[in-house]
Amino acid sequence: MRYISTRGEAPALGFEDVLLTGLASDGGLYVPESLPHFSLEEIRSWRGLSYSELAFRVMHPFVDDAIPADDFRAMLEETYDVFAHQAVAPLVQLDTNEWVLELFRGPTLAFKDFALQLLGRLLDYVLEKRKQHVVIMGATSGDTGSAAIEGCRRCEHVDIFILHPYQRVSEVQRRQMTTVLGDNIHNIAVKGNFDDCQRMVKESFGDQSFLGGKTQLAAVNSINWARIMAQIVYYFQASLALGGPDRSMAFSVPTGNFGDIFAGYLAKKMGLPISQLVIATNRNDILHRFMSGNRYEQHKLEHTLSPSMDIMVSSNFERLLFDLHGRDGAAVKSLLENASKGPVSIEDYRWRHARKLFDSDAVDDKTTCDTIREIYEQNEYLLDPHTAIGVRAARNCRRDMAIPMITLGTAHPAKFPDAIAESGLSVEPQLPPHMADLFEREERYTVLDNDVQGVQDFIAKHWKNA
Ligand SMILES: *Cc1c(COP(=O)(O)O)cnc(C)c1O
Repeated sequence: MRYISTRGEAPALGFEDVLLTGLASDGGLYVPESLPHFSLEEIRSWRGLSYSELAFRVMHPFVDDAIPADDFRAMLEETYDVFAHQAVAPLVQLDTNEWVLELFRGPTLAFKDFALQLLGRLLDYVLEKRKQHVVIMGATSGDTGSAAIEGCRRCEHVDIFILHPYQRVSEVQRRQMTTVLGDNIHNIAVKGNFDDCQRMVKESFGDQSFLGGKTQLAAVNSINWARIMAQIVYYFQASLALGGPDRSMAFSVPTGNFGDIFAGYLAKKMGLPISQLVIATNRNDILHRFMSGNRYEQHKLEHTLSPSMDIMVSSNFERLLFDLHGRDGAAVKSLLENASKGPVSIEDYRWRHARKLFDSDAVDDKTTCDTIREIYEQNEYLLDPHTAIGVRAARNCRRDMAIPMITLGTAHPAKFPDAIAESGLSVEPQLPPHMADLFEREERYTVLDNDVQGVQDFIAKHWKNA
């Protein structure tokens, strides 16, 4: 399988290089040159497979000969074995033909574990083969950092440095990162805000000379193709559990960077019957505004009760724009260059095509809380604020009651106790048993000034072979 850039200028790469590269050299994102397509008959034959075997069937064409089949199978078994539910991604019913797909049974209680548990293992496998080492550097305001750290904790060939804004992440989120103790894990609390952290990461990727040429930086944010790939699997799994592919499904997806929902779009293109895909956003609604009015325009960042969806632009949306433009990289490049200067639109017929592919809705904090309360009162089931946005959007956008509507449950409610409290419920979400002692565990992190030089010196001094 070859991968090409959405901006059309970077060289095509194989799977291994795409895994290690992140952003393409022309600023674009890598996508497969062509998608595998599965017949209904083949998909039907996957009924009853374990999650990891299904993952193998869906992902193998993307990995191709980069990893021998037996090794890849073993890796997938190990990856999904760490989830605290035998079904890996269990379905919970809310109402007639309405479901939540619980994607938060992994080590950090958010769906990002599905991809990052695999990514850590893929990286280590490829680096071992190549006798190479990488330094992962990332900034986080919450879920990504902890999932990345958990994903890399056993990697031999990876050091990971995660920057978070000092005293500005929730205690649960901080502890999920800082209580993972390992020689290759480095938490840095920067005396600044999330944007400062992100700027430092960006600057460091731009000029890696501080590493003295002895190792290189790698990215684990959702522009990494392997993350998208891993997220395609659970669309197939949920559908098969509810009678697919002989009936079509609808999915509602709480969306920030457009990674998770893009995976659903790919599942559909790969042959899975999906009749509706709902983009569910919070007040940071650039995608909803685009879908409703063909205007792609950055607004100021709003802080909401669903912080993992607080974004100004959706990086993975570029991958959809590439398809909407007939895979014309030059057109995408000029569109996005213009988009960084002000509002842009796309040709009307292309936008109409996008509207056929997706429905959308934006949900504010009050409605999020109302939904958490409503579902609890109806079912004694507690939603986290991100999933609540998905459920509300699903109910608002639903077209056909005969088609199962599945909302992706992206996080465990105990990660976001503030939103539960604000919804007026007197229940306190409990951490699951395997995390119940989180508040007693030893923490390890280093507080550094808001200064890129100091952070780079720290990294240069603390990676494995420094
Ligand atoms: C990351 C995240 C999202 C958004 O996912 P994208 O792939 O960026 O659209 C939604 N909910 C939770 C809990 C998350 O951690």
